[in-house]
Amino acid sequence: MTDPEWIRCGPCRALTYGKRYERELRVCPSCGHHGRVEPALRIQHLLDPDSVTAVEVAATVADPLGFADLRPYPDRHAEAVRRTGRDTGVIAVRGRVDGHPVVLAVMDFAFLGGSLGTAEGEAVTAAAEAALAGRTPLIVVAASGGARMQEGALSLMQMAKTSNAFAALDEAGLLTITVVTDPTYGGVAASFATLSDVVIAEPGARMGFAGPRVIQQTIRTQLPEGFQTAEFLLAHGLVDRVVRRGELRQTLGRLVAMSRDDDGAPAAEIPHGEVWTDPDRLPPEVAGREPREVVGLARMPQRPTALDHAGHWLDGFIELHGDRSGADCPAVVGGLGWLAGRPVVLVGHQKGHTTAELVRRKFGMPSPAGFRKAGRLFRLAAKLGLPVVTLIDTPGADPGLRAEEQGQAIAVAESLRLLGRLPVPVVAVVTGEGGSGGALALGVADRVLMCANSIYSVISPEGCAAILWKRPDAAADAARALRISAADLLALGVVDGVVPEPPGGAHTDPAAAAELVHRAVAAAVSELADHKPEELLRHRFERFRRFGVATTGETETSA
Ligand SMILES: [Zn+2]
Repeated sequence: MTDPEWIRCGPCRALTYGKRYERELRVCPSCGHHGRVEPALRIQHLLDPDSVTAVEVAATVADPLGFADLRPYPDRHAEAVRRTGRDTGVIAVRGRVDGHPVVLAVMDFAFLGGSLGTAEGEAVTAAAEAALAGRTPLIVVAASGGARMQEGALSLMQMAKTSNAFAALDEAGLLTITVVTDPTYGGVAASFATLSDVVIAEPGARMGFAGPRVIQQTIRTQLPEGFQTAEFLLAHGLVDRVVRRGELRQTLGRLVAMSRDDDGAPAAEIPHGEVWTDPDRLPPEVAGREPREVVGLARMPQRPTALDHAGHWLDGFIELHGDRSGADCPAVVGGLGWLAGRPVVLVGHQKGHTTAELVRRKFGMPSPAGFRKAGRLFRLAAKLGLPVVTLIDTPGADPGLRAEEQGQAIAVAESLRLLGRLPVPVVAVVTGEGGSGGALALGVADRVLMCANSIYSVISPEGCAAILWKRPDAAADAARALRISAADLLALGVVDGVVPEPPGGAHTDPAAAAELVHRAVAAAVSELADHKPEELLRHRFERFRRFGVATTGETETSA
């Protein structure tokens, strides 16, 4: 193929000089449209030079059905081979991304519409098996119209074959990443492409089970603008991120590097942090602060949010989105980053500093999708063997109608069970408001810490006052009676330590407040990292098992 000197962009009609278009990785400089890329070029974009070797793929049956429509299938296939210069629609290779070994499988839409035939299913499976054998992550670049009709049920079976191969990578704790390119439909979207731990989509790339034309014919109504595009998929919680082609390689490199805590020995020094663990030796301004005053401080909108913390003290943080079931709750955020040189999964409630932000973040009150996103990230941490850090700051789970329809109670309950049995270290910090079940859903941890001016409570003081005092202005009485301050909860044994705040509260110096949390969390994670999973699980079980039992002596509550 020869490069035409000028390329005309399909959507915006702008002309780009051919060499520049190639330099821009076939992204239109005028409108950002991502053009199609053949496998060889894709491999060149993504993998380190001179690192690429082919993965051996077993031979497959050529025309299993003796299929003919208007033309015999072998004719169509031979033409695809002639036109593309390749004999299958999937290229599987080993290589390196930023020095980290991976296996990469790239689908080719130009080869019979990227359809999933036996050869393509075999190549994806061989790639997964090569990743398993080499204990490396697997990256798939997806592009497909769906199953290949000309191979009938044998094509359909490739969906099961490839999914089984991905399940084996889950069991082995090996990271899988899909890059969704335009278009990815049918049997590929409904099997391996969406089973990856992280699903990244190129801008504008469409993915779905059924194509828009089929849907439109079925429901006979207009589909919304941008239906099934990457941006639509992100908003509906179906992909983790939309990443421009020019940033793809760097994103993949970071994810691959973070997918394993290789030797458990972080390169960076663990910062020393103070945590108060003795309820009798708390500083007087913490021990003696009026509960009503603490409630006010805990709700200060200038306190650092979960994303502020991630930005301040996690290196290379990559936020992951969505519950993969239809929604991306803005009140829960999470992702991967390095904590003092060690990769961790961070999940937290997200509030905001301005009214607009607070409204957009639903005031930090998660929907069921928020807890399901958290659950997805917890399971990812368990799969990869990475510690979990949770940051708790919510008035409570969203009590709305939609939340009930979607099973809010079930979502909270399942999070409690999942965290309780997660075979990796879990450190939770109440950074602001620890509101009821919505807080505890992120709080079943090996170490539970509270910031000095945070609260943790079964119900808000206002709610309690309205129910038991029958008047909301009794909130100060309720706050005192409920014992919701860090000092009280440390005395009750509900939390293990209190993290200092800058004098006057976290809102007076958010960066310093974040740094104090950073130090406390890094020390806790570092200490827990040496424990075996079964040991962690036993202690975590016992930690929560003993609450409320009268005779243990260590939980005296009547003083
Ligand atoms: Zn354009």
